[in-house]
Amino acid sequence: MREEKKKGKKIKEKLRARYTQRVSSTSLFFWVLGAISGVCLLMVLLFGVSQWFVLKNTVQQQMSQDLSVRGQTIKERLLPGLPPQFADEEEHARHLSATYGVNVTVLDGEGRVLYSSALEADSFVSDVAKIKAELGEGTEVDRDFSVYQQGNDGVYVCRLEDAQTGANAYLYVTKDVSYMGIVLGEMSIRILFSALFVFVLAFVVAAIVSGFITKPIDEMKDKAKLLARGDFSVNFHGKDYGREMAELAESLNFARDELSKTDGMQKELIANVSHDFKTPLTMIKAYASMIVEISGEDKKKREKHATVIIEEADRLTSLVGDLLDLSKLQSGIAALSKEEFDLSAYTRQAVEKFGYLQETHGYQFIVDIDDGAIVSADKGKIGQVLHNLIGNAVNYTGDDKKVYISLKRGETSAYFSVRDTGKGISKEALNDIWDRYYRSKETHKRPIQGTGLGLSIVRRVLEMHNLKFGVESDLGKGSVFYVDFPCVSEG
Ligand code: ADP
Repeated sequence: MREEKKKGKKIKEKLRARYTQRVSSTSLFFWVLGAISGVCLLMVLLFGVSQWFVLKNTVQQQMSQDLSVRGQTIKERLLPGLPPQFADEEEHARHLSATYGVNVTVLDGEGRVLYSSALEADSFVSDVAKIKAELGEGTEVDRDFSVYQQGNDGVYVCRLEDAQTGANAYLYVTKDVSYMGIVLGEMSIRILFSALFVFVLAFVVAAIVSGFITKPIDEMKDKAKLLARGDFSVNFHGKDYGREMAELAESLNFARDELSKTDGMQKELIANVSHDFKTPLTMIKAYASMIVEISGEDKKKREKHATVIIEEADRLTSLVGDLLDLSKLQSGIAALSKEEFDLSAYTRQAVEKFGYLQETHGYQFIVDIDDGAIVSADKGKIGQVLHNLIGNAVNYTGDDKKVYISLKRGETSAYFSVRDTGKGISKEALNDIWDRYYRSKETHKRPIQGTGLGLSIVRRVLEMHNLKFGVESDLGKGSVFYVDFPCVSEG
């Protein structure tokens, strides 16, 4: 026993754990907020980084264009040889350096300084390999000039030919471009601040949007909880929050109405069923007491009283039977067991069962049944359908006490209908009569005891068979209930 209890407890705990795992503890507000701010952050980052690269490229291009124009001009001014106004090449170089805001150096083929506007001789020797590589010397891409960056300097190099000796020489022009780093740094800070500002703005907007989205959902959730606890006065509002929310609110209001209707009908059914149980039980008790106290010795009276007891017991049995049938049908326990049978003969049998009412209550059954309608269906359940529909017609027909039953054969189907001449069914009630708990409020003297479950059994059985069925009613004139049975082709 103890072990079983322990096992049960373990299973319960497992189930609880599984359920709690499935429910996310993060509020929808934070999901939406996180998602929107995340996307904004990503966009701001992408934008910032791409802007930074564009800026860097532009500044570099600018520098390289500017330096190549200056280098080219200096080269053109150097090539014709030393102008007479300068004492030597070095003075000429210094003049060019001052004019174009650059350092001008000319190197021989080995990288030694021939003359320079700067003063550090020999310092370029080691650079000659780099210069040659930049110009692509000895390779297929032999360039006239090249511009590149080295440390804080932008460098322009090109080949010069010594006019007298024909030997190789290089023009080496440099310009301080450390301003580029400063500009880029400055711009990076600006981009970073703008990104931060945009992100904060996006976060605030995201918080407002998330609030806007989750507020009606929160409200609906709270109201749905109330509804689940049985408060049918709740009203779902959603029309101020867009079409989807309006539709959701509408559906929830519809569900509330349906639930409240079902709840009301359920209560009514319990009241009805209790009443229906109570009446025969009271009768049984009363007649049993009468047998004990009065009619015990009198055989005739005793039999009469015992018959009442038997009839009341039958009523109870049929009530319990209906309840059981419906719950089986609705829970899906009752499966169909189809067979081929003659519906014409079966309908006649069903009508005959009501034959006693002709003599006891003066009912007339006007029957028009075509022969040979063979169908494939669950015979027992179809019998129940015929019984309930004919029984209702008997209960609700008019004072003429006429009930019309017909089965008409078409080419492929047989059309069953049962018509009464009663008060008919109002348009509003037409849909509800098929519901499990619906029962007319009218206290109506019926020869056959009803439970309010008959038509829901009919509906469930016919739906299981996929049959077309329905009701047409004319207020004051009566109703026709019909079912269309597909026939099995003979031969
Ligand atoms: P019950 O007849 O026991 O009340 P049913 O499920 O058979 O339960 O019928 C549900 C309701 O449908 C009835 O209470 C009645 O209001 C209405 N109804 C059924 N058949 C007829 C009919 N032939 N004429 C008028 N009303 C009908």
